[in-house]
Order: sequence, then structure tokens, then C-alpha cells
Amino acid sequence: MSKLSLDRILQSQGFGTRKYCRALIEDGDVSVNGTVEDNYKATFDTADLVLTVFDEEWRYREHLYVALYKPANFECSRKPSHHPGVLTLLPEQFTWREVQPVGRLDHDTTGLLLMSDDGPFIHAQSSPKRHVPKVYQATTAEPVTPELVEQLLAGVQLHDEPAPLKALSCVQRGEHLLEIVLEQGKYHQVKRMLAAAGNHCSSLHRSQIGGLTLEALGLQEGEWCFLEKEQLDLLV
Ligand code: URA
Repeated sequence: MSKLSLDRILQSQGFGTRKYCRALIEDGDVSVNGTVEDNYKATFDTADLVLTVFDEEWRYREHLYVALYKPANFECSRKPSHHPGVLTLLPEQFTWREVQPVGRLDHDTTGLLLMSDDGPFIHAQSSPKRHVPKVYQATTAEPVTPELVEQLLAGVQLHDEPAPLKALSCVQRGEHLLEIVLEQGKYHQVKRMLAAAGNHCSSLHRSQIGGLTLEALGLQEGEWCFLEKEQLDLLV
């Protein structure tokens, strides 16, 4: 349990600079648990705290854990160069809180992307030591063959990797469609594995990370939601 002054609380939640948050409070634009509070020095216990800022309710969250259904033509980079960044799909408050993608999807890849402002969580999730299965649907330029599936399961050698990389599972889902499960998260891994196996990936979608699926989250392209503890527990 921690008690913080209201201006600090607002700032920690991404509403802006301390100066701006103080002005919001003094202008009477902020309610705490349903009551307007215009003293920025007033302190509150952050557990179960609900703020209302400009008539919008906001539950206090120490950290943000978010799932985004990334559309194509958005970049995961913090400094996007050719397309808008994925942060533009989230409320501006999240940028103030320095929310960032957990790992990356290519600009043309669609699907499940986790985002957070919790450094240790991002670090742990992105660690090469973690072997959380990630499920991809890859559309291929050339028809899928049993040999291609066998090769991806047996392992393909990428020029900058010391050992062949294997798919944990690989199933043909259509003439040009593969469902491929990877435990590692190497740069352009699906595309490079398909190319090394003599085919080409023409589009790529990520539907699942660990036990967390886009379908269960009920997200449409471009939509996001908060992840609560029980959903984070599925990321093992
Ligand atoms: N593998 C790729 O090649 N690209 C992605 O975006 C994700 C995995």
C-alpha cells in the first residue's frame, strides 16, 4: 500500500507534467473515488483508486500491460521511419508512460503484440532464455509441400545463427498457408526460415503468445485492451 499526493498520482498515470497535473487539479477537473479534489497536495492510497479526469474514469495502475491487434503498415520502432508507430494506436497517456512493444513484429506483420511500461516485465518476456511458444499463420508465395513442413520441423540454417532453427510445430492449413509455432524470437525469423527452406512469406500474422490468443481477447484489427493478472499468467 502506498500513499501519494494527487499531483504525483496523476503524473504517474501519464496525464502530463507535474505542472499540468497540478493545474488540472486546481481547475476542479479531477475527482478521486467520485469526489472532486482540488488540492494537489492531498494524499491517497493508490490501491483501488479511481480517478475521473475530464469526466473519464481511470483506474490507478502501477504498470500498464496491454495487448494490441497490430494492423499492417505500423512500425514497432520507437522512432518509426516509413509508417506510423504502433503507439499512435494507443491513448496519448501511454506515450507519457513510455509504454513500448514487448519484442517486435515487422511493419507488414499483423496480430498480437504485447506492450507495457514495466521494464523488468519487458526484459523478462524478451529474454532469449524464455521459450514462450508464439503461433504464426504464414501465407506462402509457392504452394506448401510436405518437404517444406519437414524441413521447418527438422531445422533450417540461417547464415547468422550458430545452429539450425526448428519450428516447434508446423502444420499445413491451406495450399499456401502454414501454421508455424516458434519458441525463439529471432529477427525476421519466420520469413527467413521460409526463405531458407526455398519458399517465400507473402504475409504473416501472429495469433497467439503462450496461452494468450487474439480470439479469446476478442480484439479486432487496430484495437487494444488491458491485460489483467489471469491473462498475464497465460504468458508462461
Ligand atoms: N517472424 C518474422 O519474420 N516477422 C515477424 O514480424 C515475426 C516473426
